Amino acid sequence: MIIFKSINKLKNQVNFKANLGFVPTMGSLHKGHISLIKTSKQKCYKTLVSIFVNPSQFNKKKDYRSYPRNLNNDLKILKKLKVDYVLIPKINDIYKTKREMQIKLNKTDKILCSKYRPGHFEGVLGVISIFLKNIKAKFMFMGNKDFQQLYLIRKYLGKRFKTKIINCKTIRFKNSFAYSSRNKLLSKKNLKNAILISNVLKRFHNLIIKDFSKVKEIKNINYKISKKCSKLEYLEIRNKDNLRKKINRNNFKIFVAYYLDDVRLIDNF
Ligand code: AMP
Repeated sequence: MIIFKSINKLKNQVNFKANLGFVPTMGSLHKGHISLIKTSKQKCYKTLVSIFVNPSQFNKKKDYRSYPRNLNNDLKILKKLKVDYVLIPKINDIYKTKREMQIKLNKTDKILCSKYRPGHFEGVLGVISIFLKNIKAKFMFMGNKDFQQLYLIRKYLGKRFKTKIINCKTIRFKNSFAYSSRNKLLSKKNLKNAILISNVLKRFHNLIIKDFSKVKEIKNINYKISKKCSKLEYLEIRNKDNLRKKINRNNFKIFVAYYLDDVRLIDNF
């Protein structure tokens, strides 16, 4: 496993003509990341994983500072998985190319997380755009857990780069809540609440599949979830193809963002 601390060094040493799979992460690796890496290893000749906690996608400094970091353990995991390359860039290395960071979202995309986290996706799009400009991977693997992120990356960057974006399924703890680096910040009590909330949403999802008219029960579900968390930021059902509100039984997806104490979690079903 070769570890690069700068994009330039990586560009000089990695053969982009080989079938390269790229998995961008913010580290503190868990089973969700591991599943993306395994998918890349199955599909590609070489796999590159980046670890970069990107400050520009945090709209609160405190959130950036408290984001879980565990580099030594991450490297152990990546070595065990026999990942070929790891990129751990410095902030200056990414931010010297300021122009790429200036991606503006259309007003119609300021929904769900981008409504509540101003500047967040602009930060995500900026850093992914810098990565894709420099890392000529054949495939980039990303999780459906961050569905809106994937949607916006496809929409704003999909045509600008040759790298093919691959959606990967959400990996869940015991079939309930999604693995997330932020889960490490949860108390035992809140882990239980996360399980309860995801079970409510899973049941609601199955109910709508059986009987689409049940979408109107969203108010009850909203009430149930609000009781189990510190703050329900949003609970919405949208069309998974365009994230609009016009839905039918074949294209609906339930999106949620909530706080357990001051830990913000998102999911979709
Ligand atoms: P992050 O480190 O949180 O920025 O996530 C890096 C990548 O891992 C993103 O593409 C996420 O969507 C993906 N990811 C995070 N959690 C999960 C999960 N539970 N299942 C599948 N993919 C995930």
